[in-house]
Amino acid sequence: MAHPCQRCGACCAHFRVAFHWSEAEAFLGGTVPPELAETLDPHRLVMRGTQASQPRCAALHGTVGEAVSCGIYERRPSVCREVVPSWESGAPSLQCDKARLAHGLQLLTPEDWLDPPGAETPPLPQSA
Ligand code: SF4
Ligand code: SF4
Repeated sequence: MAHPCQRCGACCAHFRVAFHWSEAEAFLGGTVPPELAETLDPHRLVMRGTQASQPRCAALHGTVGEAVSCGIYERRPSVCREVVPSWESGAPSLQCDKARLAHGLQLLTPEDWLDPPGAETPPLPQSA
């Protein structure tokens, strides 16, 4: 089953994605590519594109509601890691629901996390 977020991306094209400037400073351990961020205020940066009247993060690839990916997934800001999709952990997510509604997508339900009958369970990753 494809992860529901891979068919969505609504939250990456709805909210202003702001975070502390240190997250884009490599010498402080920051991982966000600085060229994809811009200054919001003395303390914060935002992902490019997310301050627009119709926000869309510059790192988002694909078509919202169809197939998307984050071009900097391993290096994305902390705020992106904090957004959880509704019902993945058994509870609704206000941010997820709000973003999906804004893009005309149905809200996720607990059923979106069920494997279809007959689906194979993927093997666990090998330990190092
Ligand atoms: S968290 Fe919700 S709004 Fe964001 S990509 Fe996943 S399903 Fe879509
Ligand atoms: S950095 Fe990635 S996860 Fe965060 S808003 Fe942009 S596309 Fe979405």
